[in-house]
Amino acid sequence: MVMVVNLMAEWIGLADKLRDAGVQVPLPAYLGWADEWSDTVAGAWYPETGRLYVARRIAHVPLLVRDVLTHEVAHQIQYGFSGSGSGGGVNGGPHGDLFSAVATRVAGILGCPSPTAELIREWPHAQRPEGYYGPQVRRVGA
Ligand SMILES: [Zn+2]
Repeated sequence: MVMVVNLMAEWIGLADKLRDAGVQVPLPAYLGWADEWSDTVAGAWYPETGRLYVARRIAHVPLLVRDVLTHEVAHQIQYGFSGSGSGGGVNGGPHGDLFSAVATRVAGILGCPSPTAELIREWPHAQRPEGYYGPQVRRVGA
């Protein structure tokens, strides 16, 4: 039997650390596993509905689930600042300047790598060293 991460416990663990550092994260309206995604999508936050999903295919890899949740929690905070996610800037958008600023702050609190511009769409998991998630987890395309 494969162990599956307790998604809500992981989310609360991240939100507690952020709250202790003065960063509030709203409870999602729904938090659950997504079954039918492509290999390149691991998580999604839908600001219109407050629903947060993580791909079920990674449910047995706790550190990867935590990193994917970290990315989506940063989106939650970002959209709390701005309904468009961009902060109104022309260079904004889902992974623009506002997300970069939020992700950098979240990284400092949670102790994960600060986002680089090239890898920000897959931050922080793309910035982890090969083997970080265990020998059975490989990068797509690597
Ligand atoms: Zn994203």
